[in-house]
Amino acid sequence: MRNLNKDINQLIESQLKEWDLARQNYANLSKVKTKTFSFGDFEIRVQFNPARIVSSAAKIDAKSIRERRCFLCPQNLPPEQRGIAFGRDYQILVNPFPIFPQHLTVPSLRHTGQLIFDRYGDMLDLAEALEDFVVFYNGPKCGASAPDHLHFQAGNKTFLPLEKDLQHIERKIIASKGTLLCYQLENYLRRVIVIESTEKQRVVEQFNTLYASLETRDGETEPMLNIVSWYGGGRWTSCIFPRKVHRPKCFFAEGGENLLISPASVDLGGVFILPQEKDFEKITKNDIKAVLEEVTL
Ligand SMILES: [Zn+2]
Repeated sequence: MRNLNKDINQLIESQLKEWDLARQNYANLSKVKTKTFSFGDFEIRVQFNPARIVSSAAKIDAKSIRERRCFLCPQNLPPEQRGIAFGRDYQILVNPFPIFPQHLTVPSLRHTGQLIFDRYGDMLDLAEALEDFVVFYNGPKCGASAPDHLHFQAGNKTFLPLEKDLQHIERKIIASKGTLLCYQLENYLRRVIVIESTEKQRVVEQFNTLYASLETRDGETEPMLNIVSWYGGGRWTSCIFPRKVHRPKCFFAEGGENLLISPASVDLGGVFILPQEKDFEKITKNDIKAVLEEVTL
């Protein structure tokens, strides 16, 4: 797999020159406010990021999706947007609403639903090609703002606390065979299953086993999940968060109880994204704990 980090840096550099919206939003990112909550063995960071309102509050019901123009279809991309072709049918794009200092969206060129099952191997290939990045997937009811158009995202390594948490959080081994290691983190507020191997096929097989054990609800297309994967030192690491609900109670609450948070991979990876300043000011450790426990299985 060819390493694309250099091409990506060039793409980002040229897009920030040519594309006002992206330049503005990346410039604003350096001014976002953050704060950190400690939970003993690990931390959760909170980022006040007003530009993310488009994603956090996205309407993803069937009617709204049907009536909008798909913003990931090639013919609807902004005229300034450029991409780098990748894999069987993807292009790598700069995400104009960043959370990470470098934030990419990797949609399929075809308008096909957000479904991971036969695309998980592609995700691992992408992680290998983007070795400076973590690659993530939000299921159609787990934070994807385009559930009708297959896409991954990627952001800089070392940004999500999850990466270093894996080094020291207590684990329960699920499988250990040859180069494959699969475990679950304990006392981590959210359920996460981690698959590691130097052999891509081993990771895919273990993922398929896990996928088969998760329930797909009536009317849905796949089990609810978020995935964060990365590659380094010849080894894949893939973290799977099985989900129980899409948006927590506080998302729908009225008045003082309301917190506009729509958790997806980044939030589960340890960086809560709050598009509203009032929420950033008032969020507490207990709110974070409640949201994490409520949304994962
Ligand atoms: Zn589309």
